[in-house]
Amino acid sequence: MKIVMLGAPGAGKGTQAKMIAAEFGIPHISTGDIFRANIKEGTELGKKASEYMERGLLVPDELTLQLIMDRFTKDDCANGYVLDGFPRTIAQAEALTESLKKAGEALDYAIDVDVPDSAIVKRMGGRRACLSCGGTYHVTFNPPKKEGICDLCGGKLSIRKDDEPETVQKRLDVYHAQTQPLIDYYSEQGILRTVDGTQDVGEVFQSIQEILNA
Ligand code: AMP
Repeated sequence: MKIVMLGAPGAGKGTQAKMIAAEFGIPHISTGDIFRANIKEGTELGKKASEYMERGLLVPDELTLQLIMDRFTKDDCANGYVLDGFPRTIAQAEALTESLKKAGEALDYAIDVDVPDSAIVKRMGGRRACLSCGGTYHVTFNPPKKEGICDLCGGKLSIRKDDEPETVQKRLDVYHAQTQPLIDYYSEQGILRTVDGTQDVGEVFQSIQEILNA
């Protein structure tokens, strides 16, 4: 099963992607998480990526494509994957389609987690992330068992720099300009499915399961 998650930053696609990955036994691949891991490790890629990420801009396609194509070669991708945060531009989507085509493969679904901007801005204020393992939470919608502490690794939770209010607005602007066109792109391919992302986490996941199990 090869799935692409679409939706604005803060729509909850990362949370859903992790749930899909666990349910279907496929890896959850988040380009944002890979970039953040590189930043933490201080790699060359991390240094380059952070210049863009801190300003709410997209990392250039060339760097992103190099990273994701390398990730696809890992053994755990043999039965598919759920992509979260990639593709984010038409150029990335076309590169993905082409590389799959060469291998005689194709995506199964592009799932758009639809949430209006006004709701996103409200939500982002409550987002918390574990800087140690990448676990994500929301103080109201998806709280950790113990306040401020990651359920998965016991690490300290904080607000990601790119979840701060001014960066959030910039990321939404970038999303509408560069990523929203992917909705038409996958609709034309006949694989777009839209779920109402304003429902609670469990309900959104149920809607997704209905699509994937159909
Ligand atoms: P995310 O965690 O998916 O919201 O990604 C955080 C940031 O990483 C984005 O705002 C971008 O700066 C960068 N990023 C993640 N995925 C991509 C991608 N596919 N193309 C370009 N930049 C990306």
